[in-house]
Amino acid sequence: MTCFNFFTFKLKTITCPNCNWIGQGKELSKGEFFEDSYISEFNCPKCSIEVGFIQFPMKEQMDKWEKENPGKKTDWE
Ligand SMILES: [Zn+2]
Repeated sequence: MTCFNFFTFKLKTITCPNCNWIGQGKELSKGEFFEDSYISEFNCPKCSIEVGFIQFPMKEQMDKWEKENPGKKTDWE
């Protein structure tokens, strides 16, 4: 299972290791969310297997990203 980069995965090309579906991270269907670890799983929209997960960043990481990547699109609204 892959740990996606929270900031970039939505616009990244993802390939499902099971059915070879190819699409963008934002097209994946949301799986389980683990509140204690801030981890959210993402599943393949075609075969529903889990292809990866993201960990939601802390405030400091958000600030750091915005500073280092001004105006860069992440597709998180
Ligand atoms: Zn698949």
